[in-house]
Amino acid sequence: MPSASGSSRSRRSARSSNDSAIQPADVRWVVLTHLHTDHAGGLHHFPDNEILVTRTELEYASGLRGRLRGYVANKHWPAGFRPTMLELEPEPLGPFPQSLRLTEAGDVTLVPVAGHTPGQIGVLVDEGDHTVFLAGDSSYTQELMLRGTADGVGADEQAERLTHERIRAFAAETPTVYLVAHDPETGGRLNERRLVHPIPTEVAA
Ligand SMILES: [Zn+2]
Repeated sequence: MPSASGSSRSRRSARSSNDSAIQPADVRWVVLTHLHTDHAGGLHHFPDNEILVTRTELEYASGLRGRLRGYVANKHWPAGFRPTMLELEPEPLGPFPQSLRLTEAGDVTLVPVAGHTPGQIGVLVDEGDHTVFLAGDSSYTQELMLRGTADGVGADEQAERLTHERIRAFAAETPTVYLVAHDPETGGRLNERRLVHPIPTEVAA
């Protein structure tokens, strides 16, 4: 499934009834945090939607080089796959040096979370008194992010640890629900809007 889809409308319908699936027509954008198959493999469900991905990620994942880098199924992207390529703006957002505001209301913003892949982005959804942080594969679990432990399969472990530092700094200043794709606790955290409590001291690398 795509990593994140965002519009106030789709979020509302997702929250108003747990058993009503979101239809493609309800979705304004499909935001791909990155292009690994387990995050981009459901694109054929959204043939008419605008797909957003960073230029860095698309270039890194494409072609034979992309396949050698682990994007093994890039031949199976839907025919005519032409996502909108994003460039983040040099507009800092808290500890993140760049960002891109997606919605006019300013309640959905993209930030760089490189490491797992060079062009990975996180989606920040401002829900008023807290922010939901859709972080792709920034870490396998929240615990590993808090401890600053790189997962060992990322493209760049140093970048991954820097991303963890930034996420911890963000969560220290903004109440944050941290959602990564492979953490078994992610569903529960989303349902209960359970906040991250960052470890306030520096963690040794
Ligand atoms: Zn991944």
